[in-house]
Amino acid sequence: MLLSVITPAYNEQESIRKLHQRLTSILSRDSFETGYEYELVFVNDGSRDRTLEEIKQVAASDPRVRYISFSRNFGKEAAMLAGLSFCSGDFGIIMDSDLQHPPEMIPAMMDQGRAGFDQVIAKRTRSGDKKGRTFLSKLYYRLVNHLIDVKLEDGVGDFRLLSRKAIDALVSMREYTRFSKGLFAWIGFRSTVIEYENVQREAGETKWSLKALLRYAADGIMSFNDKPLRVSFYIGAITMFLGLLYILYSLVRVLVVGIEEPGYFTMISAILIMGGVQLVSVGVLGEYIGKIYYEVKGRPHFLVQESNIPDLTERSEANHKGNNAP
Ligand code: UDP
Ligand code: MG
Repeated sequence: MLLSVITPAYNEQESIRKLHQRLTSILSRDSFETGYEYELVFVNDGSRDRTLEEIKQVAASDPRVRYISFSRNFGKEAAMLAGLSFCSGDFGIIMDSDLQHPPEMIPAMMDQGRAGFDQVIAKRTRSGDKKGRTFLSKLYYRLVNHLIDVKLEDGVGDFRLLSRKAIDALVSMREYTRFSKGLFAWIGFRSTVIEYENVQREAGETKWSLKALLRYAADGIMSFNDKPLRVSFYIGAITMFLGLLYILYSLVRVLVVGIEEPGYFTMISAILIMGGVQLVSVGVLGEYIGKIYYEVKGRPHFLVQESNIPDLTERSEANHKGNNAP
């Protein structure tokens, strides 16, 4: 039995060595005691600091370290996909490389994996997070769960163990705008949750600007359903209905009372409302068309600059063929 630990890294030069040490001290004991092999898959997501050099150094000293280095920054979603595509484990664990996901959880996760679960989700508490962020994400999850077709849970991130079945399922989904939280929920399989205490980042700083978070939030809503399209349809329909009622009412008034002062206010508000509805609808359409544009191009999710995984090119070609199959 082989466990692959997959860690995407973007500008994490201070953490790589520490992460490798923590992982090794836990994994060497647990794998020996409970009988499995492990590999560590570092995915360098086009870092601009010394992350790749650090990874190569640990790889030189530890034959269990595999690395994949991208030609530029493709984002965490792409990095996770690369790790999942090229890991060879019967189980895979995805974890951040900034030590916010405690490696100490791995033995417990492996226990659940061996017990037959396909997804073992490590859920964090939100203690120590910025108040504003916590509030915003709580709000987001409440909103999003009303909107989309799969159920998302607050505090549940990418830190999880996946069985080979789950890994293959995730890799088989080739959509360009990937929203892993949704994908994880979408594939289903037997899942279980274990909790851990929230940890603050040890070194460096978060790679998520508010702008990136907002984009992520929008992707989440939009990549998992077509309800926004329907919402604009409903708004349009309701406005049209109200407009019709108003016209009828005015007509009756004209017939009964006769023509009064023509309402500048009514006219301008009608124009504004209609204009607004149209703009909203066009915007929603545009968002979806934008997504289609990216899907249709069928570009690879990432490009590999270098790696120490021997059959990487063959496998990535096989992956790409899989993509074109009907
Ligand atoms: N990451 C990545 N590519 C990116 C941004 C982030 O591979 O473009 C990695 C990063 O190195 C870290 C993980 O994704 O291992 C989570 O990022 P971060 O800690 O910045 O997010 P947060 O923990 O604040 O949600
Ligand atoms: Mg982090």
